[in-house]
Amino acid sequence: MHSRHACNLVVTLIGVVGLAGQPVWPAAPASVRILILTGASDPSHNWQQTSAMLERILGAARRFTVRRLEEPRGITAATLEGYDAVIVNYNGPRWGSETEAALEAFVASGKGLVSFHGVSYGPFLGTEQRGSGWSYDPQAAWPAWRRLLGAFWPPQNIGHSIPHAFRVRLVDRDHPVTRGMPPEFTFSDELYHKLELEPGVRVLGVAFSDQAWRGTGRDEPVFWAGSFGKGRTFHTTLGHDEAAMYQPGFATLMARAVEWAAMGTVTLEGWLDLARRAADPVRVLVVTGGHAYPSAFYSLFEGYDDLVWAHAATEQEAFRPNLKDRWDVLVFHDMREDLGLEARASLRAFVEAGKGVVSIHHAIVDFTSWPWWYEEVIGGKYFTKPQAGRPASTFKEGVDLVVRPVAEMRSHPVLRGVFPLVVNDEAYKGMWHSPRIQVLMETDHPLNDRPVVYIGPGGGGRAIYIQLGHSEGTLHHPGYRRLVRNAILWAAGRLPDRRQPR
Ligand SMILES: [Zn+2]
Ligand SMILES: [Zn+2]
Repeated sequence: MHSRHACNLVVTLIGVVGLAGQPVWPAAPASVRILILTGASDPSHNWQQTSAMLERILGAARRFTVRRLEEPRGITAATLEGYDAVIVNYNGPRWGSETEAALEAFVASGKGLVSFHGVSYGPFLGTEQRGSGWSYDPQAAWPAWRRLLGAFWPPQNIGHSIPHAFRVRLVDRDHPVTRGMPPEFTFSDELYHKLELEPGVRVLGVAFSDQAWRGTGRDEPVFWAGSFGKGRTFHTTLGHDEAAMYQPGFATLMARAVEWAAMGTVTLEGWLDLARRAADPVRVLVVTGGHAYPSAFYSLFEGYDDLVWAHAATEQEAFRPNLKDRWDVLVFHDMREDLGLEARASLRAFVEAGKGVVSIHHAIVDFTSWPWWYEEVIGGKYFTKPQAGRPASTFKEGVDLVVRPVAEMRSHPVLRGVFPLVVNDEAYKGMWHSPRIQVLMETDHPLNDRPVVYIGPGGGGRAIYIQLGHSEGTLHHPGYRRLVRNAILWAAGRLPDRRQPR
């Protein structure tokens, strides 16, 4: 806690609520095994970023097992064994004859190869950037690469429009990759131009290259499918960076292309929207107000597709009627000693409906004038002033604390994956604790009471208090974040207790 005069910052933030919806694609019966070969890109592109985005796209498709190899030079046929398709996200030095022959044999045997954007040129084709121009040395090229890519980009043609939004038109929707996709979509990216396609490739999508954006004034192919021996190849010129790849048009196309290249068929359906949440996410209302806190606090709720949250900073916003119909878990990070009667009724109905409460840090000061709250729900109380013969509780910021799981509670679901936390945070001492709390984590620091994380009586629902959470260092600590996430899921009834009954 800070001194009270510093406590009147009221943060108003529009709640961030993701779109709840059905998963776009069903869980797959079998996993398709994909290897990303990456580790180099030309200076205009960032292979780390784009490889991570590829993995995110393929993960969202729920169909693939993905591995990434960042040093392809020197790999052999044995490395590729067991994969269904390889994605090349690499633009750098040649891999050497054994590795290149291994990839050719892999694809020719009936497997898949997918590549995109920054792989459209480079040393594999014998082209290299020299200052502002391009050199071409056919002797330096990987002979089979043109056929694997399905194209050659003559050095004098290498270029693209100014990044802008254009329409991608699917000109062939009889191919497994494009079948069932919308006939066109708007896309923002660089638009590569003047590539020379290899004979036999099947152009699936084009985009008009507008001269107003320094384009060619004609349709340019933007993705195509080809073959190599018994294998399948796919290349798209789209996907400059993670922002381009994030777009549903790219994500959908890439996931479908990878499945087709790997298996020869596409089972994926619908539009792959990376912003889409999992079905039935936990709905969390975060209640603040009455005390300042680092904005890093909000990051505790971000990055999970099974959780949607909104934020309320005032009593009026937070404790509306029908709270229990709108939310699964209330996270308290506010500091209000009192609460109006209507708000009390709404909150009590929420708790008694069996819902979840996660109280964090200074929220232990909440509703100290409402015994039902601290006795029946939380099971703890911080005394801001001496009361009934008890001295006021104390606080001290910046204390090095070791907070460890209580031995016999180590297998509690809230502590799953949580080790002792060594943090610099705020110590509280001299609080009241109900004999009915179940302590999950504790400390023996002299400036702190022993219980630090505990499950309260619950009042008919599930309540957990987590004292830590004052400092940025704690809020960013992955172990703390796991604890908070577990607590939210547990409070929502989503973390089954798999402990053996004693
Ligand atoms: Zn604090
Ligand atoms: Zn680019």
